[in-house]
Amino acid sequence: MTLRAGVLAVQGDVSEHGAAIERAAAAHDQTAEVVEIRESGLVPDCDVLLLPGGESTTISRLIHREGIADEIEAHVEAGKPVLATCAGLIVSATDAQDDRVDTLNVIDVSVERNAFGRQKDSFEAPLDVEGLDDPFPAVFIRAPVIDYVGPDVEVLATWDDRPVAVRDGPVVGTSFHPELTEDPRIHDLAFFDSVES
Ligand code: GLN
Repeated sequence: MTLRAGVLAVQGDVSEHGAAIERAAAAHDQTAEVVEIRESGLVPDCDVLLLPGGESTTISRLIHREGIADEIEAHVEAGKPVLATCAGLIVSATDAQDDRVDTLNVIDVSVERNAFGRQKDSFEAPLDVEGLDDPFPAVFIRAPVIDYVGPDVEVLATWDDRPVAVRDGPVVGTSFHPELTEDPRIHDLAFFDSVES
């Protein structure tokens, strides 16, 4: 089957996520058709969605203005998979602790923006992730800290005793950027564990 993968493209590292989904699909002898989402009307036809990093205040403003936010919420309500990374995680959270971010409430966590790596803004860490045999090379860039996790949220990975990858139903959220390495296993975990072929 061809997986229709919508990548929110109002801002952030869109092409890297498209390439990562294509790699993950190829590992399952499938193909992915990447649809860049900049306007409403496209999300309802997507099998899976990807919410990239970037600047969460900007992303939040644009998806509400363009009418995309309601469509993402409906996608999740229908049980269809989403991978939300870094700013995408912030926008997806129940609480972003910042009035400028109007969140989607699709991952029951509270996040603190820019709270990781006080000395260094960016770092890479080998991360043990639930369901993966070997550590994942996780790239953190001005990453959010998850400081509350709801009762139905599964923690998939922690760094420094803090959750950095979580699953809430069909939605996987990461504080780090899995699209910035060649390793497709997080995209695999988010999409091919739950997509019917
Ligand atoms: N610091 C950004 C924010 O708060 C997120 C950074 C990122 O996506 N790499 O929105």
